[in-house]
Parts: sequence; C-alpha cells; structure tokens
Amino acid sequence: MVAYRLSEAELTELFTGLVVESLAVKQDFGTTTIGCRQCGETLSVGDAVAVALTCYEDHSWEIEGVYCTDHGVDSVAETMGIRAENQAVVGATLESAGYLPPDGNFEPDALTLGAVDVLDYSPTADGY
Ligand SMILES: [Zn+2]
Repeated sequence: MVAYRLSEAELTELFTGLVVESLAVKQDFGTTTIGCRQCGETLSVGDAVAVALTCYEDHSWEIEGVYCTDHGVDSVAETMGIRAENQAVVGATLESAGYLPPDGNFEPDALTLGAVDVLDYSPTADGY
C-alpha cells in the first residue's frame, strides 16, 4: 500500500460538496436533516457542524460522524483514535447541493458539506 499525505488544500477540495451519507451516517432525505452523533440534535442547512472522516484503504472517504457545535470535535485522536488510514476532522457548514446515490434516484436537496475548514488530519503513516 502506498502511504501518502494530503495537503490541507487537497482535503478541503475532497470534502467540499461531499454528501452527508455513509455507512455510519444516514441523513433524512425527506426533511433534509442529520442528527448530531453525540446528542441527536437535528441539524439542517446553514448549521455549523464538525465532521469526522476516514479514508478506507486510501480509496473512499466515509463520514464517521457529524456533530453539532456543542459537541464539536477537533482532533482525530479524540474522535476516532489514530489508525493506519487517512483520517480527518473538519469544520463545515451544511448545504443542500443534491446527491445522486448509487441507485440513481437523485436527491435534489441532499445535505452536503460547504465552507470546509480542516481542523485535524492524520495520514496513514501515523497509524503504524
Ligand atoms: Zn450534539
């Protein structure tokens, strides 16, 4: 496996417009909301959030959790623990830019990440 380190600019670009949907995080497409992983508070468009992400097998970035500002996280170690994968914690604002899921049913109001601000990043090599 090739270990690499992404720049803050690359991370920002990767996460901007990323849909808030993953194996761990399911948004409610009907109401365009997502719950804080910690307290369950309903978060929607315009809300500031903190987001924890992991890049599985250096291939696919998956959101591990979305947090409200009260439970804002800012470090990979505290949120997920350092593993041998690319991991990041970012601040973002929820937007609704739409999403085309694998099943092909476009969700025009789907929550996505905007105004991404990288708070912490742990490259794969740090996990060894
Ligand atoms: Zn919360």
